[in-house]
Amino acid sequence: MPAPSLREQIARTDNTFERAGRLWIGKCLICNGRLSFDARGGFGANVEHIVPRTEGGDNDVLNLGLTHPHCNAEKGRNWDNRKKRSDAARYEALVGGFLARRKERWRDPLPEEDVKDARGQSGWQDPSRYIDTRRSAVAAVQQHESVTTPHV
Ligand SMILES: [Zn+2]
Repeated sequence: MPAPSLREQIARTDNTFERAGRLWIGKCLICNGRLSFDARGGFGANVEHIVPRTEGGDNDVLNLGLTHPHCNAEKGRNWDNRKKRSDAARYEALVGGFLARRKERWRDPLPEEDVKDARGQSGWQDPSRYIDTRRSAVAAVQQHESVTTPHV
């Protein structure tokens, strides 16, 4: 079995992320907005180096976060770029804040068996959920009938 991708490793250790069928759904590390990405291809999320590689940051999973592609690009272009950095203290505070957020969200990696199937065997395809939905639909119909159908 191939090693989990970086995105997978980050999602499994970020407590805002849950698996829903083929998707991982959680929160962008930068803007905190809803973020989802394809569990197999990774499409939809970028891997953000919180301390950029140009500043000595590495691939330690605690230095990595999942972000919207545009949030990742914005940070790379306008904040990580030394030429555009007008206020070093503010930049350090920002990076420190993201590192702290990543630590706050940390969880021990979800076990592989919970996440290995990318074909959507959980969530909306969960059979018990399906049965519950059917039951409530049947109950709703019965209730409706008992109101509208006169008993003779
Ligand atoms: Zn974002």
